[in-house]
Amino acid sequence: MPLTWKSWTTPFLLAAAVLSLNSCGNSGPRTSAGRDVWGHRPGPRGFDTVIIDAGHGGKDPGAVSRHTGQREKDLTLDMAKRIRAELRGFKTILMRSDDTFIDLDERVVRANEYGDAILISMHFNAGPSHVRGPETYYWRVDSHGLATRFQRAMASVSPVESSSRGLVRRRLRLTRNPEIPCVLLEGGYLSNPAEARLVADPGYRQQLAKAIASAIRTQAAVGDSGTGPLPRPLFEPPSRPTDAPE
Ligand SMILES: [Zn+2]
Repeated sequence: MPLTWKSWTTPFLLAAAVLSLNSCGNSGPRTSAGRDVWGHRPGPRGFDTVIIDAGHGGKDPGAVSRHTGQREKDLTLDMAKRIRAELRGFKTILMRSDDTFIDLDERVVRANEYGDAILISMHFNAGPSHVRGPETYYWRVDSHGLATRFQRAMASVSPVESSSRGLVRRRLRLTRNPEIPCVLLEGGYLSNPAEARLVADPGYRQQLAKAIASAIRTQAAVGDSGTGPLPRPLFEPPSRPTDAPE
């Protein structure tokens, strides 16, 4: 069941007020990741909680590589645990810690139980066999800096990119509906033979996890500094199950 819309006008006025305050740029005051329906504000800084969502699970395997036989749901869980292990000093929450199915809307509800937190949802991709490289999806203004850092971090580890989309602003249930900064990461294409073999290597997944954790630490330390101008606020309804697949 999609989230019900909260007050339509109050967040708008709040967002407008926050945006006018933010015109001073990235060197402004510390910005907490506290709950915010729209997220039309700079990215978080000084947050202490990281919710790590391993995409898919249980009856939903996600993408399955015809090159290595690996299932997205297993790789995402492995990555979630690796990222958590790299985040000493943060409070970390795994959305799932075993092979169970959790509906996307339920993941949003669970993420919204936390205030000063960010959500990262880990996935691997599938598409035409020539496409490879990591991609990062965000929608909220307050998730742009984080998303930029994640994409840079994964690209720094990925040896080759080919026709992949890089950083993408897209309204998905896990990028639009949570009330905290939230980003969806695609760690690579399981449909590309070379990238599927790379992702099958635990050493490569560890490098990816380290890079992702490092991006989180940097964001917590300096906020959006160095991630470029904020995107414009978008007023669109929550994403629904009938929207594009995640
Ligand atoms: Zn996925």
